[in-house]
Amino acid sequence: MSAIAYKIGEDIVDTQTAQELHVEGEPIELDNSPESLEVLRHSTAHLMAQAIKHLYPDAEFYVGPVVKEGFYYDFKTKEKIGEEDLKKIEKEMIKIAKKKYPIEKYTISKEEAKEKFKDDHLKQEVLKNIPSDEVSIYKQGDFEDLCRGPHLPNLGLIRNFKLTKVSGAYLGGDSKNEMLTRIYGIAFADKESLKKHMDMLAEAAKRDHRKIGQEMKLFTFREEVGAGFPIWLPNGARMRSRLEQLLFKAHRKRGYEPVRGPEMLRSDLWKVSGHYQNYGENMYFTNIDDVEFGVKPMNCVGHIKVYEDELHSYRDLPIKYFEYGVVHRHEASGALHGLFRVREFTQDDAHIFCRADQIEEQIIEIIDFIDKIMSTFGFEYKMMLSTKPEKAVGSDEVWEISTNALRAALERHNLSYDIDEGGGAFYGPKIDIKITDAIGREWQCGTVQLDFNLPERFHLEYNADDNEKVQPVMIHRAILGSFERFIGILTEHYAGEFPMFIAPTQVAIIPIAETHKEYAKEIQGKLIDIGADSEIYAKNESLNKRIRTAEKARTPMLIILGDEEVQNKTIAVRDRRSREQYNLSEEEFLKLIQTKINEVNF
Ligand SMILES: [Zn+2]
Ligand SMILES: [Zn+2]
Repeated sequence: MSAIAYKIGEDIVDTQTAQELHVEGEPIELDNSPESLEVLRHSTAHLMAQAIKHLYPDAEFYVGPVVKEGFYYDFKTKEKIGEEDLKKIEKEMIKIAKKKYPIEKYTISKEEAKEKFKDDHLKQEVLKNIPSDEVSIYKQGDFEDLCRGPHLPNLGLIRNFKLTKVSGAYLGGDSKNEMLTRIYGIAFADKESLKKHMDMLAEAAKRDHRKIGQEMKLFTFREEVGAGFPIWLPNGARMRSRLEQLLFKAHRKRGYEPVRGPEMLRSDLWKVSGHYQNYGENMYFTNIDDVEFGVKPMNCVGHIKVYEDELHSYRDLPIKYFEYGVVHRHEASGALHGLFRVREFTQDDAHIFCRADQIEEQIIEIIDFIDKIMSTFGFEYKMMLSTKPEKAVGSDEVWEISTNALRAALERHNLSYDIDEGGGAFYGPKIDIKITDAIGREWQCGTVQLDFNLPERFHLEYNADDNEKVQPVMIHRAILGSFERFIGILTEHYAGEFPMFIAPTQVAIIPIAETHKEYAKEIQGKLIDIGADSEIYAKNESLNKRIRTAEKARTPMLIILGDEEVQNKTIAVRDRRSREQYNLSEEEFLKLIQTKINEVNF
């Protein structure tokens, strides 16, 4: 197969450029490697622009980059474009691609480019942001576009693509600017990969947590309450509480102490911590008796105040505080998305204060903790280690010691991990956890961050064995990330079919007739005693209808109570997860439920 582009050092250049430069690069073939997909998808964005220009001659174009979801192009047309137009645009793209036009590059001055695109005010915006005096133009058939490249050598290579969605996007991402149309699409080197991807998208749409969350009555959002502020309904609140209780025990077992800081702290304190200067635009402020307060966007400062409440000796360390900390952060309204991106959320947050020589063992313990939780839910996960960025606080020596401690902890666990050189926070190196769900999507969840900055800013200390005052290391750590986001992920991962230990309702109790209601209530009471939630389906509806309703609620276990059951104190069980039906004595049944809800310990 021939090359579609070349890799020269870190750069990817198109075949034409490589020829002109007379340099030997590493050839990139048309396959599904990241480099190849980058060129293919970006070229598909231009093909889409060409098709749009054919169908909507007044179209003006802004930029068409490659993104995680594939590619998009931002543009403007007089006529409004909706989902229903995507098929038509796709068809035109196929028609153009079949002509296999070569994609040819030439260079002109910026002044010439301004003249060339004089009717396209969006391209004028793009030109404003280009610092160099020369720009490159790509020509494919009857279409020319301003771009840096690299692109495919010809349009015939674009065969397997789909346009996936259309949305609005502000020019340059700034809500003060005009709204443009954005069409997203995806492309692959082969047909099978495209089909697999489209199947995944269809499956993801079925599992959308916003849809399932409504159906199962887990949570809701209300316009009058405000965008980005979730309301937890009884079912969702029950599930959340189960998760909280499991995690509470798990933290206590590992020596963490529960603490709780206030929701608002004086702005002076946020100035000490640096949040006021560096994070202020994401925070909410208010005044109390003429004193400015900031609503906490993070829980660190509260935990620091707990640490300061006592003098500590080297023997007391590590000290571990945890809190289900409610935080508020300003997110742009366009970024809000169900439970995934909200303005108020609760973190499973913890801070560990330890000596430098304890970092490695602490990290090992945290990774164990993460492993226990993520493998229980059936997530595969990987870690990313981020190292010292250009702008950083703390000496090189401390950075080296702590980065090595993180690395050693990962290696001790035989964990595969990626390194993001220079991707650490300015205050310390970190490990991010990425999980893969049941349909192969990746999610960034928890994070473990070392911090030399806050202990310094707050002059935290402990007494060393020689009675010298020494500054402790602070480790910020969240495993789920936030309950909101994690429950959103769990909902899509399980498609709402939650395992027993986490399901909002463990048992659906269905009495056959009025006379069996009494026994149903008796069983419900006994289930509460062993820590299981149940719901009685006793509405004035046919038995079959009630069974269907309970099944639609995705409750893991259904029990049906009639004359025989009342008389013999037995239970007819339908296990929806194992798809089995059997009869048990009341005692056996309660024991089974108890075992199932207690089988998980983090
Ligand atoms: Zn381009
Ligand atoms: Zn923190």
